[in-house]
Amino acid sequence: MNTKKIITGEDYLQSLRGRNLQVYLMGERVIEPVDHPMLRPSANAMAKTYDLALQEPELASVISPMTGKMVNRFLHIANNVEEVVMQNQMQRRLGQLTGTCFQRCVGMDAINALFSVTYEIDMKHDTPYHARLKQFIAEMQMNNYVIGGAMTDVKGDRSKSPSGQADPDLFVHVSRRTKEGVYIRGAKAHQTGCINSHWLIVMPTQRLAPEEVDYAIVGALPVDAPGITYILGRQSCDTRSLEGGEIDLGNAAFSGLEALVVFEDAFIPNEMIFMNGETEFAAMLVERFTSFHRRSYVCKSGVGDVLIGAAATIAEYNGVERASHIRDKLVEMTHLNETIYATGIAASYQSHATPSGAFQCDELLANVCKQQVTRITYEMARLAQDLAGGLLVTLPSEADFRSHEVGPLLEKYLKGREDVPAEYRIRILRLIENLTLGRNAVGYLTESLHGAGSPQAQRIQIQRQMDLEFKQQLAKRLAGIEQVES
Ligand code: SF4
Ligand code: FE
Repeated sequence: MNTKKIITGEDYLQSLRGRNLQVYLMGERVIEPVDHPMLRPSANAMAKTYDLALQEPELASVISPMTGKMVNRFLHIANNVEEVVMQNQMQRRLGQLTGTCFQRCVGMDAINALFSVTYEIDMKHDTPYHARLKQFIAEMQMNNYVIGGAMTDVKGDRSKSPSGQADPDLFVHVSRRTKEGVYIRGAKAHQTGCINSHWLIVMPTQRLAPEEVDYAIVGALPVDAPGITYILGRQSCDTRSLEGGEIDLGNAAFSGLEALVVFEDAFIPNEMIFMNGETEFAAMLVERFTSFHRRSYVCKSGVGDVLIGAAATIAEYNGVERASHIRDKLVEMTHLNETIYATGIAASYQSHATPSGAFQCDELLANVCKQQVTRITYEMARLAQDLAGGLLVTLPSEADFRSHEVGPLLEKYLKGREDVPAEYRIRILRLIENLTLGRNAVGYLTESLHGAGSPQAQRIQIQRQMDLEFKQQLAKRLAGIEQVES
């Protein structure tokens, strides 16, 4: 790993080089992912988390009580309500600036959840996890590293538990124990930003049975540790980055990134282990992490701001911005978008202190936020496509637009308003395509559906928290049933 102190986005991009990762994309090994045209936009999005900390320090930086120094908010443990809320404000801003998934929240949510869980494991078992975690976080803060949180196992046969699978590797588990640490095997799916990170924290993905001790492992590994292979997902329209132009990309600078991460006896030394066999704490960790991460999906309201802006711009370029039904659709999009933000930020405002002193967001509201995200982004995309018109999907390529033969024809016939060049109209349509059908629809739509847990996972948590008994009592009292019953 490059050892120069990482301060700017440019330092960060440089820090990713020379790591000799086992990265595969479309059947080929990629030696320098950051310099690959299909992958660079995802590193650019992560780099924005560094630049924002410099450009808007009140939003994205904070003094760490661990080091006494100003650190990136993504590496900070929230110690009060205000700091949990600020995470959301920073996320919305980054969504606005990148129009995609900027990937760094998984690590922030993982260390914040682990901070309180390790404290509670230690209280019960007299283990050393909390002090180790604090040491690890301080080191990450001092070096300004990116941490990737790796929770989602591939899961195999969904009707079977981790220990009931035909192949034990379908859930990440300890394959061998030595005096110095543990070796792990298995794979984590959909790992956001993994190769753009410096460290990974592996965590169990679900509640575990008492005998599933080998699956109750939480630990940190450098991304370039031996025994880790990254097989990158390909995204809708991603090879447009290889074509040489930039208009057809819609958002040439930024994208998200996911991969299947395979661990083949990768080693975690003792000092990087934060849970080792305490099966009864797996569910608590999953619930705290997913609560944080589900309200982190206010990132989509930042991306939604971009989509609303694009929809309003295409309406303007088409000369219809004053039509009342157009304005009404923009009002509807704004109402939907703010509903995502409102539920997320409410979950953060209703944070409570854990025994460790770290604050934890409200679980019910966090799940309501994510449930909204699973639906609202699709309706927003529908409205944006409605405003865009069919040209969104019948538009010729940038190469045609640049061609001597047909370019002038497109310039003439693809013009909307007289004073707006056809190229502007094409660019904004391509951005809407990027967000609703193309590369960043991966993050804006399907990740909104399945990221941080699929919709049913939120419904289960909402069901657990809905407290029907209390609500029935309220109803019965007003209906006079209580007096009759007693
Ligand atoms: Fe952050 Fe949103 Fe990406 Fe999750 S989907 S890592 S919350 S930007
Ligand atoms: Fe995600």
